[in-house]
This record gives sequence, structure tokens and C-alpha cells, in this order.
Amino acid sequence: MEPTLSEILSQLGETRADYYNAVSPAIVQSSNFAFPTVAAMREALGDEFGTPFYTRGFNPTVAMLRQKLAALEACEDALVCGSGSAAVAIAVMGFLQAGDHVICVQKPYSWTYKLLNTLLRRFGVETSFIDGREIESFEAARRSNTKMVFIESPNSMTFELQDIAAVAAFAKANKLISIIDNSYSSPLFQQPHTLGIDLVVHSATKFLNGHSDVVAGAICGSKAHISKLFAQEWMTLGPSISPNDAWLLMRGLRTLELRANRSADTAALIIPELEQHPKVEHVYWPFSSQNPQRTLAQKQMKRCAGMFSIAIKTDSPEGVERFCDSLRHFLLACSWGGYESLAFPVCGQSQSVSYTNSPVPWNLVRIYLGIEDPALLRDDLMQALEKV
Ligand SMILES: *Cc1c(COP(=O)(O)O)cnc(C)c1O
Repeated sequence: MEPTLSEILSQLGETRADYYNAVSPAIVQSSNFAFPTVAAMREALGDEFGTPFYTRGFNPTVAMLRQKLAALEACEDALVCGSGSAAVAIAVMGFLQAGDHVICVQKPYSWTYKLLNTLLRRFGVETSFIDGREIESFEAARRSNTKMVFIESPNSMTFELQDIAAVAAFAKANKLISIIDNSYSSPLFQQPHTLGIDLVVHSATKFLNGHSDVVAGAICGSKAHISKLFAQEWMTLGPSISPNDAWLLMRGLRTLELRANRSADTAALIIPELEQHPKVEHVYWPFSSQNPQRTLAQKQMKRCAGMFSIAIKTDSPEGVERFCDSLRHFLLACSWGGYESLAFPVCGQSQSVSYTNSPVPWNLVRIYLGIEDPALLRDDLMQALEKV
């Protein structure tokens, strides 16, 4: 029987009897593991993927987390990295070589764009960045040497979507590896592997950890794909997470359902008012009534996370800055997924981080609704909008 969500978030993978029946998972803070005999050592070294030998490969605390993340994404296995960017890089590089071509959506996470557009070009891999909202744009970009499609549905600044099942079918029909960055929805609200996507990557820094205190990433997929990545890219590049951070992530996961639903509830409460507000030109949020892709969003996402952008109605960047500087409770910061509500204005981002070839509107402010009192968050946004 498949474990329930509550079982995944707490008990799954936690071999309690091995650790004094402790209720909280054990942190095995050890870089390496010892063996009673040479034969035992040889056997362990023959299976670094599944046996404690050296923590770059396998660590019992990290292994518990791997099982949980794989189960959350309805995948056979997972790897947990020291950052989301490492997860993206390992998953992408694992299936490409010089001469290959990648189709990627045009506004992925900034460092994903940099990986494909700069680093991998140095190694002879070319990428076409496409709009991605219409499935035809994938077929139009396909070449004889295309090996991979990389999507991010929705992306995390303007929230365009791709039809995940259609992209997966396109990839299968053309024997391409398909990868999605699922950080925004978390596996709670969207499970792309069940729609046919090969590999699901996460910045676990965001919703999965949920406490703004760990940088981490995950790659989820079939046993065949994950063990292939492990044997080559994983062990050579060494992006491992520390056992201590893996433990923090498991603590964060215990409340994933509570946190993600609270933030989504607050969004559903506040966004209709913002859609009507005279100082707001447009709301960018997958489930917004203003979103032309709303039907697709509601088809493939169970709920919509509490992060969105608003375009401020103003003639000048100063108007946007007045809004942001007037926020009393929201913190001005990047990232998201923690307790604290955050605002991240495009005008606060230096040119050096604007990697995408498709610039976002200058008057955009990304808002992450944390899990504080919804009334407090609403009132803070409204008073700051009066200052525009
Ligand atoms: C933050 C983020 C990443 C990168 O993850 P890190 O943990 O910061 O390395 C990748 N994709 C998305 C959508 C993100 O928000």
C-alpha cells in the first residue's frame, strides 16, 4: 500500500529502531563508515549508491530524506543536493554531451538560464529558449540533435505555464529527456512525474524546507535515471548536502502541508482585492482571474502557492520604491517559502542578475505570502499601495 502524505512527512524512511526509538530522526554526522572485515568493506564500496561508505555518496540521515522526497514526487528515488542550482546542473549535465541541443522555456530561474546559456555553451551544448505557453513552440524548436526539454511551470517571476502532460508526451514521442523545476508548486500541489516528466528538480530551500535556514536541492526520478546520475555526475561533482541540513529539511517537511496550505489560503483571500485595486495594473498568479492560462493552471495544479507578482500602476520607478519602502511587515528579500512574508521588486535586482533574454516589467514586485496572520499581511499591502 502507498504511504499516506502524513506517513511520508513523518515516518517514511525513519528506521527508528536503529536509533534508540528516537521520535526525531537521527543525525549521523559522520563523513565515513568503518567495516569489521576487508570483505565487508569491499562489498560496501561495490554499492556506494545504497550503502554507508562515504557521506559524499550515502549517509543514513540523507537517505531518510531521499526516500521522503521521492515518495512526495511519486518517483522511485531521489538525490538531495547542497542547493537547488546544483540539482538543476547535475540533472541537466547528466544527459548531455557536446553537440547536443536543449529546448528550454524562456524565463527559467536566472541561474538555470546562465547554466544553459553560458556554461554549457562552452562545452558545445546549444539551447533554444522558447515561449513555451503553446505546445507548438516545442515542436518548432526541435532539431535532429535535440536531447532534452527543460520546463519550469510556472516560473517564479511572471508565472507562465506549460502544459506539462503535453510536453511530456512531446518528449516521449521524440525520445528526449524531460526535466521540470517544480519548486513553485511543491509536490503537494503538482506532481509532474505522474504526468510523464522524467526528472523533477527542486530548490528545497523554498517550500520543502520552509524556514529560510537551509539552502538545498533535490532531483527525483526513476531508479535508472537517479542511479545513472549518482554513478557519474553526482560522485564526480560532489554536490552533497550535510547530514545536519538534511535533518533540518526533514523537520521542515513535517509541516509542509500546513505551511503550503496556509500560504495558499492567504493568497486566495488577498489576491481578489489586489486584482481590483486602482494602484495595481496587473496581478501575475496562475489562479488569478486575470491569467489567460488559468484553465490550464487549474487542470494541472491542485492548488496555487502563495507567491505572485503585481505590476504597480505608476509612471516612475520611484512609485515602486515608495510601495516597497512603505511595507512595515513584509521584508525586502529574495527567496521564499519560509515563515516570513517577502517582497522582491524587479527594480531591486541589479542588471548582473537579469540573465533572461526576455526581460520582466520594471514595475513588477514579487510578493511571497508567508504564514503570519492573513489580516496583518493584507493591511500591510494595502497601506503600502496608498503610498505609491
Ligand atoms: C531558488 C530557485 C532555484 C535555485 O535554488 P537554490 O537552492 O537557491 O540553489 C531554482 N529554481 C527556482 C524556481 C528557484 O526559486
